[in-house]
Amino acid sequence: MIWLRTLFLVALWALAALAAHWLIGEPAGWIVFASALVAMLFWRSWRLQKVSYWARHPDTAPPASVGPWDDILAPLYRYTRARARELADTQRAMQGMLAAAQALPDGAVTMNEDFQIDWCNRMARQHLGLRLPADRGHNLLNLLRAPEFVEYAHRGSWPEPILVRLGQNGQERLMMMQLTAYASNQRLLITRDVTQIERLETTRRDFVANVSHELRTPLTVLAGFLETLREMPDEALPAEQRAQYLAMMHEQAQRMQAIVEDLLTLSTLESSPGGDQRPVDMRALLEKARQQIEALSGGRHTLRWHIDESLDVVGTETELASAISNLLTNAVRYTPEGGEITVRWERDEDGGARYSVRDTGIGIAARHLPRLTERFYRVDRGRSRAVGGTGLGLAITKHIAMRHDAELLISSEPGKGSVFTLRFPPERIAGDAG
Ligand code: ADP
Repeated sequence: MIWLRTLFLVALWALAALAAHWLIGEPAGWIVFASALVAMLFWRSWRLQKVSYWARHPDTAPPASVGPWDDILAPLYRYTRARARELADTQRAMQGMLAAAQALPDGAVTMNEDFQIDWCNRMARQHLGLRLPADRGHNLLNLLRAPEFVEYAHRGSWPEPILVRLGQNGQERLMMMQLTAYASNQRLLITRDVTQIERLETTRRDFVANVSHELRTPLTVLAGFLETLREMPDEALPAEQRAQYLAMMHEQAQRMQAIVEDLLTLSTLESSPGGDQRPVDMRALLEKARQQIEALSGGRHTLRWHIDESLDVVGTETELASAISNLLTNAVRYTPEGGEITVRWERDEDGGARYSVRDTGIGIAARHLPRLTERFYRVDRGRSRAVGGTGLGLAITKHIAMRHDAELLISSEPGKGSVFTLRFPPERIAGDAG
C-alpha cells in the first residue's frame, strides 16, 4: 500500500510543520519544515541508491526496509528467482541432452541445408574423422570425399540409409549413413559402423558354403554307388565288388555323420552360455582317453603318459573329454607309424595346469598356425580326409578352451612334430579356487 504510506508521511510532515509554526513562531516553523524536507530528500535518495544497486545485482537478496520500494522489490525478486530457477533447469536439461547425444553409440552430425557442419558427437568424429571446432562451418560433402554419399545427399529426400566404405587410419570401415531433415532447413546425419556385422555375415555365408561343400563330396560318392547298385543287375556284380562298394558307401556315410556331429557340437557350444562348473576327475577322463587312443593307434606309435593324478580342474566333463581326445586323435592321425606321442597333465609354473600332447609327426608350417582353429581349415585337405578328419576338431577345442578360460597354444616344425597345449589358469584348479 504505497499510496497509504505516502499519505501518512505527508500528513505527519504537515502536522510537524504546523506544530512548529504554532509552538515556536513563523521563521522557526519554516526552518523545521525545510530541514524536514531536506532530511526526507536525503533519506529517499539513500534508499533509491540501495534499490539502484540491487537493480544492477538482481541475483542478490533485495535491500530491506526501503520504504515504498519494499512492495515493488519483493515481487520483482520472486520473479527473478523463479526465472533463474527456470534457466538453471533448462540448462541442466540441455546439458543432459548433449551428454546423451555424446554418449550415443551412433555418430550424429547436425548441419544446415548446405551441409555445413554445425555440431557432431564423439562417435561421428571417430566414424568420419571430423574435428570440432576446426570443421564447424565446413561442408561435410567436401570433407568426406565419398562420391556415393555426395550423390545420396543431393537426392533431397532420404527414406533409406546408404552403405559407404570409408578409409580410416589405413583401415577400411563400412558405414551405414542416414540423412534426415529437421526444423525446416536443418540436416541430421546418423552414422553406424557395420564393419563387424558385414564380417559376421561373410563368415556365416562362407560357413554355409563350406558345410555344403563338405557334405556334397561324400554325398556325391554315396549317390554314385547307389545308382550303380540300383542299375546293375545282381548277377553282373560279383559279390566281392559289391562288398567293396558297400564298404565305401559306409565310409562316406560315416564321414557325413562325423561332420554333422562336429557341427552339432559347435552349435551347442555356441548357443549355450556356459556348461557345468564342477570339479572334473581328470585322472578318470585321461584314463578313458588313453584306452581310446591306444585302440586308435593300434600299436603303431609309442605312447608316453606323465599324469599328475592329484590335479583336477573345474569345468564341464563332456567338453573337457572332447578337447582332450581331439588333440590326441590328431597326434595319432598326423604321426606316421613308429612315431612317439607324449601326453602331459601337470602343474604350470603360475599355479595353473597344462595338458600337452607332443608328437613326432608331420608337423605344420608356421604360416598355417594362425588359421588352424578356423572351421574347416586344413593344411592338407586330402590327408585330413584320408584319416577321417572333419576340419572342425581344433575349432571345437578352441571353443572349449575359451569356455574354461584356457589358452590353446600350438607350436610345430614341419617334419619334426607338433605340441598342442591347453593352459588352464590357477582359478580353474579344483580345490585351489577362492
Ligand atoms: P581335422 O579333422 O582335419 O584333423 P582339425 O581341426 O582337428 O581338423 O585340425 C585342422 C588341421 O590341423 C588338420 O587338418 C591338420 O592339417 C592340422 N593338424 C592338426 N593337428 C595336427 C598334428 N598333431 N600334426 C600335424 N598337423 C595337425
